[in-house]
Amino acid sequence: MVKPAIPVDVPKMDTAFTKLGLSDALAFGVQEMGYVEPTPIQAQAIPVVLSGRDLIGSAQTGTGKTAAFALPIIQKLGTHGKLRCLILEPTRELALQVEEAFQKFSKFTDLRVTIVYGGVGYGKQLEDLRGGIDILAATPGRLLDHMEQGNVSLADVDILVLDEVDRMLDMGFLPDVKRIVQKTPNTRQTLFFTATVPPEIASLASWALKDPARVEIGRQRSVAETIAHAFYPVVASQKFELLQLLLEQTDFKSVIIFARTRMGSDRIADRLQRKGHTVGVLHSDRSQRERIEALEGFKSGKFEVLVATDIAARGLDIAGVSHVINYDVPENAEDYVHRIGRTGRAQASGDAFTLVTEEDVRDARSIERFTGMAIERKKIEGFPYIYSALFDEKAQAEVAAAAAKPVSRLHRGVRR
Ligand code: ADP
Ligand code: MG
Repeated sequence: MVKPAIPVDVPKMDTAFTKLGLSDALAFGVQEMGYVEPTPIQAQAIPVVLSGRDLIGSAQTGTGKTAAFALPIIQKLGTHGKLRCLILEPTRELALQVEEAFQKFSKFTDLRVTIVYGGVGYGKQLEDLRGGIDILAATPGRLLDHMEQGNVSLADVDILVLDEVDRMLDMGFLPDVKRIVQKTPNTRQTLFFTATVPPEIASLASWALKDPARVEIGRQRSVAETIAHAFYPVVASQKFELLQLLLEQTDFKSVIIFARTRMGSDRIADRLQRKGHTVGVLHSDRSQRERIEALEGFKSGKFEVLVATDIAARGLDIAGVSHVINYDVPENAEDYVHRIGRTGRAQASGDAFTLVTEEDVRDARSIERFTGMAIERKKIEGFPYIYSALFDEKAQAEVAAAAAKPVSRLHRGVRR
């Protein structure tokens, strides 16, 4: 696991990330990953972590909490030495994601990152631990096993991160976490990151943290007033046809089309390309290079259309987007606000169209509730609509009444 020598040709950077105090190498690294602007949790947490203070950072899932701690940690560690940073994660998938993020962000350093989690053999993990590492991402159970076998010592850990603390507690890891924390030096810096802040976190925090700073990113509800919103009811089988007509009838400068899934966005992009549109695609299965090409191409006008998933599009600041079209209704009402935030920036006006099928009526209503505005339902003259209960006002009222009943919106995640 010896890394190649650090490239010396990292250019001088002047970006929103260097303004937060991050080095040229890190700013260059995130730029390569296609990040343009820090997310709110990053903007607020990075300076705190750099300052050495303990922190409780909370922000909704998918808002970039990993980079909020990984970037300043990499900067603080500097160069290869001892195991100085431990990140605890509740699940193997999350541990893998975080390790991968650290690998990418630390590309232009000689820091070594590894991971230990349960359900697999010990051999490779043991080898990695003995090879000398700086940063370790781990699930609690397997880490305790390694500690008991004397495979790893936490005596030099300067920075301890408890990530996804709410889930960690939900999953019953509190005793394991406490045992691990006790094996780290008292002088450490401790960081908590969580999507929600249930009351149980407070007692763990007062035990593990010293005078922590708190960064809490609230949910954004409002949208710019310069945007015109419309819902277009349509049956699922006619969505693409309607999209095409919308594109033909609107005089757009540049349009972002949001889809719910990575596969969905690829499919839409393919079909649009076959109809003669120039299209870029942005989602998390695309390589960094492809993402940057899509984004740059869209910004320069080479692509008139950008098809994207929510996660890929968070935090992007693209000037001059005249239209946002939600091919799929976002699953979380808050994502609607984020998507629409891509248009109507800086006083420019914009249009936000959303295709709504029968299945989406409930999600569409929750967007209206969340943003506190009624959105007009529109029909396009001359479109060969297949009859749908969506166009029947009485049936719609019934659906709306059903949708008004509270439902649990948790754990409906589709990977994006
Ligand atoms: P969280 O831990 O808050 O749920 P993650 O750290 O896993 O969120 O980030 C979610 C996704 O957002 C990742 O795919 C990540 O690469 C991406 N991301 C993070 N920060 C930015 C940014 N500043 N610009 C663009 N994408 C970002
Ligand atoms: Mg996370």
